Amino acid sequence: MEKRLENFGFKNQKEQNPTIRDILETIKENLNKNDQRPVIHLGHGDPSSYPSFRTTPLAQEAVISALRSSQFNGYAPAAGIPAARRAIADYISHDLPYKLSQEDVYLTAGANHGIEILLTVLARPGANVLFPRPGYPLYEARAAFSNLEVRHFDLLPEKGWEVDLDHVESLVDENTIAIVIINPGNPCGNVFTFEHMHKIAETAKRLGVVVIADEVYGHLVFGCNEFMPMGIFGSIVPVLTLGTISKRWLVPGWRLGWIAANDPNGILDKSGIAKCIEKYLNITADSATLIQGAVPEILEKSTKDFFSETVTLLREAGDKCYAKISEIPSLTCPHKPEGAMSTMVKINLPLLEGIDDDMDFSLKLANEESVLVLPGSVVGLKNWLRLSFAVELTTLEDGLERIKAFCLRRAKK
Ligand SMILES: *Cc1c(COP(=O)(O)O)cnc(C)c1O
Repeated sequence: MEKRLENFGFKNQKEQNPTIRDILETIKENLNKNDQRPVIHLGHGDPSSYPSFRTTPLAQEAVISALRSSQFNGYAPAAGIPAARRAIADYISHDLPYKLSQEDVYLTAGANHGIEILLTVLARPGANVLFPRPGYPLYEARAAFSNLEVRHFDLLPEKGWEVDLDHVESLVDENTIAIVIINPGNPCGNVFTFEHMHKIAETAKRLGVVVIADEVYGHLVFGCNEFMPMGIFGSIVPVLTLGTISKRWLVPGWRLGWIAANDPNGILDKSGIAKCIEKYLNITADSATLIQGAVPEILEKSTKDFFSETVTLLREAGDKCYAKISEIPSLTCPHKPEGAMSTMVKINLPLLEGIDDDMDFSLKLANEESVLVLPGSVVGLKNWLRLSFAVELTTLEDGLERIKAFCLRRAKK
């Protein structure tokens, strides 16, 4: 029995595709229990436990009234309750040159669930998809479970982490079905310009691939570039947008996201992709009806003040991070963060004593300074680090000081 089951290779699954969670767990095991200082988490992007990153009371009230109404105790339709789909369609359409209808929007249990749905649907025999490097490793982990072939294109640090479009061209063949872009960027904290997005759309059109635009950090921008949804180019190429209330509303535990089909030419309909998504929604888990019930109020009534407070805080945190890293000779941040909640930092290994690679750096930093950071290899860049700066500012300062102390102590003499 055991031998027979072993042949299916279940044991290899985890080693092939460690997720952020897997790696952070490993690093946590290396913490020094005798260190009296609090552990500082700069490894993941969930700021909701910090007092400065509380959601707006309005969102809480919306959930409470949805709960009290007793209208949202039942099962929701597979694609979501109509009022929530309509509210999300309106929310997205606000920034588009055309209007989405509620039929263009499918509710998911967060954007991670949206990723699962899209990659499961697109995993046709022999098909491949293009993912950014560095990227968000859940895509790779999900594709592996569906035996969907993955090809990576580079983001260019010297160009503000823009997509290397020549690289994209060289990867595409007749089996390439989609390209994923993440904007505002996780892990790089970059924000694409209108011109660059236009080029991505034209390239995708010429190559005949659908664009999946992960916009979970939509509107969380604080540099020169405005946030623009990829759906603006939906009449050039079909764009499937992934969105969520997790990040902008700071409630990742509420598990509500969406897939939006930005496709005024109806290509997704004609190709059957839209129907496949609907079929899959019938058999997959739903987001809680209660939160769906609260969504119209959350999207329509949240105030500019709430949003700008978060953005101001993230700007300050991003600036702090960039400034402190530039004081450390053995670390380089090639691009000041201008959106989302993290940035990529290169480790100049020859300047450090007794550090083998990014994993070794993260393990020793955890052990000596009780600071958790994510090794870049988890997001596709070996000997880099991903720093999440969406933490309380005083905590961030403390964490960055400890990283500096660690690097100076280990500097080659
Ligand atoms: C956080 C995140 C997600 C997942 O969002 P949820 O709605 O919480 O599932 C998806 N993509 C990226 C790039 C993220 O950073």
